[in-house]
Amino acid sequence: MQKKPHQVPFLDLLQINMAHQTAIQTAMNQVLESGWYILGEQVNAFEKEFAVFCQAKHCIGVGNGLDALHLIIRALNIKAGDEVIVPANTYIATWLAVTYAGATPVPVEPDENTYNIDPKKIENAITPHTRAILPVHLYGQTADMDPIIDIARHHHLYVIEDAAQAHGARYKGRPAGSLGDAAGFSFYPGKNLGALGDAGAIVTNNDHIAERVRLLRNYGSKIKYTNEIQGINSRLDELQAGILRVKLNYLDSENQLRQKWASYYTEHMPKEQVLLPYVPDAMEPVWHLFVIRHSHRDQLQSKLKEKGIGTLIHYPIPPHISDAYQSLNLPKGTFPLTEQIASEILSLPMGPHLTEADVEYVCNIMNTL
Ligand SMILES: *Cc1c(COP(=O)(O)O)cnc(C)c1O
Repeated sequence: MQKKPHQVPFLDLLQINMAHQTAIQTAMNQVLESGWYILGEQVNAFEKEFAVFCQAKHCIGVGNGLDALHLIIRALNIKAGDEVIVPANTYIATWLAVTYAGATPVPVEPDENTYNIDPKKIENAITPHTRAILPVHLYGQTADMDPIIDIARHHHLYVIEDAAQAHGARYKGRPAGSLGDAAGFSFYPGKNLGALGDAGAIVTNNDHIAERVRLLRNYGSKIKYTNEIQGINSRLDELQAGILRVKLNYLDSENQLRQKWASYYTEHMPKEQVLLPYVPDAMEPVWHLFVIRHSHRDQLQSKLKEKGIGTLIHYPIPPHISDAYQSLNLPKGTFPLTEQIASEILSLPMGPHLTEADVEYVCNIMNTL
């Protein structure tokens, strides 16, 4: 009988969640049987537990990661006419959070080694309208926060972390979510901490931001039918909160497994053809993605596909060239480094679903190409 060829999926959410099947089912039943489905004891408990995990004072659960960022911006009263500095090299949600609040995203090129916003290029982008800097901890590694915070202090700007890919990542020993004025997290199913649907949270040490965001996520209301401001409806469900509480218990060990696979990849990749991720001393990434660079990326991706290895590109079209942002008039060529990165990056399989045989197989194939 012929041996089945080895398959390595990019991600396997079924496997990741089935590993906690019994505990998740118990949590879901608990919510079902409680008869209380919005803003109850599961959300309260998750908010306390996730704040502790991030070493921050407050956590406020919301509907998704985009809303988390958008509500921070609204809580800071950033609005039409204001500018927010964002990475050119990010997922479009970072920019959408700014435009959703009526403000204008002002993109800055990345550091060419880490792919995160380059602090040296931020000051050039500051104008009298700038209100905040919104660094993204892309792929699970924090941005270089100390110089960003220094610039922000000097110019009286807020710092908002997009921590949607960085649950548990550390910068100089301190966790993502505790580094700026406030942070937005996503618990989209594919993130390091993923719900079984949409979910997100704001984490902050700032009492005022926490209070405003609590109002904004719930129709601007603290007391039912008493509406202090024009809020929206973006609440974390009891059901998702119960599931996230289960999965939070395993986040550190799952992140450690990601680190193990990242180390294995780093050690066994063919280093002449492939540019590996760069990790500065200050950073402890959580490897949401393992992103390599290759000059013939598309060819590499199809060869890996032929060998049963799933890969993705994060992200193929930078926000400034997407149809969605033609109105900003930032044509192709405006951010050449971002555009070059987008044409060369490839995300290899990464996650707690992988086995040693999987990463060994990926490295073996990479070394035969
Ligand atoms: C996933 C993600 C978001 C948005 O989160 P959603 O929960 O999908 O709304 C924002 N920023 C980054 C960098 C992300 O990866």
